[in-house]
Amino acid sequence: MPLRNGSLLCRIFIVLFCLLTVPFPFEAHAQAYVGQPRLVILLVIDQFRGDYLNRDRDKFQGRGFNLFLKDGAWFTDCYYDYANTKTAPGHATIGTGAYTDGHGIETNEWWDAARSFETQVSSVEDERYKLVDLPHDSIPANQPGAPSGAPNFVVGASPLNLRATTLGDELRLATQGKSKVFGISLKDRAAILPAGQSANGAFWVDDASGQFTTSTYYMEHLPEWAKAFNASGRTARAAHEASEDGTTQFFELVGRTPAANSYELDFAKALIEGEKLGQSGVTDLITISLSANDIQGHQFGPDSPFEEQMILNLDKNFDGFFSWIDQTIGLKNVWIALTADHGVAPMAGEAAKLGVHGVAVDLHKIYERLNQRLDERFAHGQRVDFLLPAPDLPYIVLDKRAFAKVNVDEKTAEDAAAELLPGVIDSLNPNPLPELKLAPPTTLHPVDHPLPPAPRVQYVYTRQQLASGQLPPTEWGKRIAHSYTSHGNWFVMLVLDAYQMPGTGQFAGTTHFSPWSYDRHVPLAFYGAPFAPGEYHERVAPVDLASTFASLAGVNQPSAAVGRVLTEALKPEAAGRH
Ligand SMILES: [Zn+2]
Repeated sequence: MPLRNGSLLCRIFIVLFCLLTVPFPFEAHAQAYVGQPRLVILLVIDQFRGDYLNRDRDKFQGRGFNLFLKDGAWFTDCYYDYANTKTAPGHATIGTGAYTDGHGIETNEWWDAARSFETQVSSVEDERYKLVDLPHDSIPANQPGAPSGAPNFVVGASPLNLRATTLGDELRLATQGKSKVFGISLKDRAAILPAGQSANGAFWVDDASGQFTTSTYYMEHLPEWAKAFNASGRTARAAHEASEDGTTQFFELVGRTPAANSYELDFAKALIEGEKLGQSGVTDLITISLSANDIQGHQFGPDSPFEEQMILNLDKNFDGFFSWIDQTIGLKNVWIALTADHGVAPMAGEAAKLGVHGVAVDLHKIYERLNQRLDERFAHGQRVDFLLPAPDLPYIVLDKRAFAKVNVDEKTAEDAAAELLPGVIDSLNPNPLPELKLAPPTTLHPVDHPLPPAPRVQYVYTRQQLASGQLPPTEWGKRIAHSYTSHGNWFVMLVLDAYQMPGTGQFAGTTHFSPWSYDRHVPLAFYGAPFAPGEYHERVAPVDLASTFASLAGVNQPSAAVGRVLTEALKPEAAGRH
C-alpha cells in the first residue's frame, strides 16, 4: 500500500535523519553550566617566541608539545596586536581577550600619580593586603613574627588594576560562582592577571625561599594541600635539581632552570587534586604560567643551548603532566590552550654580527642627555629633573610637577620630549655620517670594514596623541592605540628601530618591549574535543584564545574582549556547520 510504504519510508527517513544529526556529545553539552569540559587549562610559557616550536619540533617526544602539534590545532602565526610586549600586559591579554586599552595593564611597574612620586608600583601590588604563610626568614618587618634584619616592607597583591573580566571571571559569573578558577606562576603578576578579578586563588613563590604563597585578597591562610606541598621537601628537591642547594635566591637561581617548570607543574597537580577541579559538575579553570624560560632567556637569549635544553625538558614535563591529567580527569574532558605572554629579541650583539641593525642602547645616557636638553629649553640650563627615574621602555615618563614649576603644560612638555629624542639618540652614534656639504673630500676617511650599527628612533608618540587617537590609520597606528592607558602621568612612547633595545655592551642579555614581530610572535595552540587537529597559518592573536573558549563554553565574552572566535580550527559540528 503506497500510503503505508510512504509512511514507513518517512519513518526510516526520520530515524536516519535523527541518527545523522545527533550532535556529538561535546556539542550537546559543551556548556560551562553542565561541566563540559570539566576543566580548562591555560598554559602560558613566559617569553616563548612563536618560532621555538618549529625549531625543535623534530626533537619532541611522547605527548608533550606533540599533544598540540599532532593532536591539536596549532596556529603558527599568532602575534600580539599591541606595542607594549611585557609580562603583565601579556598575561592580562591572555585572560581578558583584550589589549591594554581594554584591560588597563600597560607594563610591569609604572609611575601612578595617584599613589606615589617616590616609587613605582607594580601591576598587581596592593598595600591593603599582605602575603600569607611566608616561611619565617621571609616575613617582612611590617608583619608579626619577622626575624631581625627582615626586609622592610613587602606588600600583598591583587588584581586591582585589571579593568576587564577574564574568561575565568565569566565562567564564575555564568555559574553563580560554582566554577572554580585558579592561577599559578613563580611571578605574582603572572598568577593573578590571567586568572582574573574573581579567582578563588592565585599562587606564586616567595622569591627567597621558593615556597608558594598568596595574598589576603584571596584567603587568610594557604589551603591545607598548599601547606602540605610547601612542607613536602619539594622546594628543596627543585633547588637540588638546579644545583642550588640551600639557596636564598630561589626565584633567580632555581627559577631560571628546567627544575622550576616541573616544580610548578607539580604544584598545579597538587592544586587540581586539592581543590577537586573538574569534579563539581561545572567547568573549572586553571592558568599555569611557567616563568623559567623568561628568567633564563633574559640572561642568555633565544639562541643559546640553554634555550633548547629548557624546551626539551619542558616537553618531557608536559608529557608527564598531560598523562597525569589523562589518568585523573581524562584528556577527553579537558580543553587546553598553549600560548606565551610575549616573544623576545636575539641578543643585540648576535644580530649585529649577521649585519642586522641590532644595538644595545644605553638608556641612562638617553635619559641624561634628554634631561639636559629639556633643561636648556625650559630651565635656562639649570639642572631640573624633568624625567621620573627608572626608565622602562617603551615609556619615558615626565615629571609633571617639575614642568608645572616652570609653567610648562603637558602638550608643550611632551611635544618637546618627542622632538628632542631623535637627536638625543643620534648623538649616541660613534660613527655619524659626515655632512656632505661641509666635508671636502680630502677630509673623508672611508673604512675597510663594516661599522657597528647605530641606535635610531622609529617614532615617538606623546600621551596626548595616544589619548586623542592622533595616530596613523595603519596597522602600526592600531597597535599603538591598543597600548594606551593612563595612570595620571605625562609620558612619551619611544620606539627604537627593530632589534635595538636597552642594554650596555654586546653581551648585556636581551629583552622584549617593542612592537616588532619577534616580541609579538607567540605560539597559540588548542587541544580538546571541539578542535580539528592541524597546522593553521592564519594570522591570529592571543586575544582570540579567551574569545574562542568563551564562545565554545557558551558564556559571555570577557567584558572588554576583542578577540575572534577561531572557527577555522573547530570541527564542523563544534562550529555549528552541519
Ligand atoms: Zn614575560
